[in-house]
Amino acid sequence: MQVPFVSLSPLHEPLRMDIHKEVDRLLNRSDFILGESVTAFEQSFAIYCDSMYCIGVSNGLDALKIALRALDIGAGDEVIVPANTYIASLFAVIEAGATPVLADPDAGTYNITAETINPLLTSRTKAIMPVHLYGQSCDMDPIMQLATAHGLYVVEDNAQAQGAVYRGKKTGSFGHINATSFYPSKNLGALGDAGAITTNDQSLYRQAALLRNMGSAQKYYHDVAGYNARMDTIQAAILRIKLAHLDKWNAERQRLAARYLNNLKDSSVILPVTMTGAAHVYHLFVIRHERRDELQAYLTESGIQTLIHYPVAPHLQPALRRFGWVEGQFPITEQISRTCLSLPLWVGMTNEQVDYVSEKIIAFTHR
Ligand SMILES: *Cc1c(COP(=O)(O)O)cnc(C)c1O
Repeated sequence: MQVPFVSLSPLHEPLRMDIHKEVDRLLNRSDFILGESVTAFEQSFAIYCDSMYCIGVSNGLDALKIALRALDIGAGDEVIVPANTYIASLFAVIEAGATPVLADPDAGTYNITAETINPLLTSRTKAIMPVHLYGQSCDMDPIMQLATAHGLYVVEDNAQAQGAVYRGKKTGSFGHINATSFYPSKNLGALGDAGAITTNDQSLYRQAALLRNMGSAQKYYHDVAGYNARMDTIQAAILRIKLAHLDKWNAERQRLAARYLNNLKDSSVILPVTMTGAAHVYHLFVIRHERRDELQAYLTESGIQTLIHYPVAPHLQPALRRFGWVEGQFPITEQISRTCLSLPLWVGMTNEQVDYVSEKIIAFTHR
């Protein structure tokens, strides 16, 4: 049996006609830039995220960078970011001109917590960027309390957790201004690059909307030096179709994850743990094993494709050498990166495929 890491076709196939119709409508309207579909998607996504405002943008990195710039975060400011995240979270801080300060995560949930953040606060700390890694919300109440106590902003990186819930509220609605990515393989993906910002603050909304579009609210009048970070109308039209199915798709991810968890409950692999009060949407199903590389090779030989999120932690990447981080500085992150393995999990994956992957993992651990 062949099991690819991800296949997007089963998810898109039933939507093919709807997508064709939307593209046809767009060709007739010719409103290719910030057209009616962008506004319509922004309204739907704001409601979906329990937020007042949404700004559609070009990608997740730009969404994070503009969120920070809207808060006037820049040179001389420190932003606390997880050490265990996709490197774009750090790039956004650097592109805004600020300095990323890394927090090792909790060893159980892989997310940063108020306890791991607290010792890192300095007089230069301006914001905390919780990343809801692999699809599980951070423990937001203590993080928001810590931020309030110290007068800090919170910017959620919600790229991996669209639709995740923490104590009855969606991720992307807790921070002062929040960002997400619609990279095609995210839980809600475009057919190309796209991203979004969500906020409940009208002045941050206005500022982020200016920054997205050349610093301009009225054509040829520029209030600030902005970016071209607009969401394509065609992506907004497609995202709007797909958003209507997101809850159903997340429920299917949760069903497949529950099947893995049950199949592997007596095995020696470390399984993902969901915190009470949180609903995990399994952007990734990440297990851990001491002989990870051997396990991955064994699964590859069995026709099962897996990935590692992430093989080299951001603090050890050549791109960030100038910050002077060294090996051993973030032990939990390094331990995760040495032992983690992401299993195939996608909408349309069959029970037989989940069971086959599980059997092969159990067979490996008995060798
Ligand atoms: C995907 C991702 C991003 C970046 O999104 P792009 O749209 O690819 O720029 C940022 N942070 C996290 C945690 C991500 O997973």
